[in-house]
Amino acid sequence: MKAVSFDPGVMSKERDVKEMVAVVREWCIRNGVRFTPQRQMVLEIIVRSEKPVGAYDILAEMARTVPNPKPTTIYRAIEFLQSHAFIHRIESLNAYVPCHAGHSHDGSQFMVCDSCGTVQEVHLCSLPAPLQKRIDDTGFALSRWNMEIHGQCPACR
Ligand SMILES: [Zn+2]
Ligand SMILES: [Zn+2]
Repeated sequence: MKAVSFDPGVMSKERDVKEMVAVVREWCIRNGVRFTPQRQMVLEIIVRSEKPVGAYDILAEMARTVPNPKPTTIYRAIEFLQSHAFIHRIESLNAYVPCHAGHSHDGSQFMVCDSCGTVQEVHLCSLPAPLQKRIDDTGFALSRWNMEIHGQCPACR
């Protein structure tokens, strides 16, 4: 089981974590939803990680501070965070990244580096026009989408 990798710029990461936690906490208060310690912990682990983290990585990281964390608790926290677009699932990696858009959005584009494994979100938050048109033309009812573009990041090229 590989460990969650951390950004060398720890201080800026911690600022990210604080900001993201504040955003989600505020959203929960506004919407009358409980921001449980488990939900907060899972969010912190995902934001703190430099690369997308899978559920098992989250479980392993959580086990460092919580005795015997339950996978179901983690899956439920992930589901909550994902359903409100605070995090996104990278399907091709089966892992999660935080969303920094600061708003809920339906779809997203991601650039996935196949060398170092980092993922960058492209905040267009809408489908390319030709694809959207094709979908509209066919009368297909779109429910969710995400686009994953694989390649090499500037640091790895
Ligand atoms: Zn996003
Ligand atoms: Zn790279």
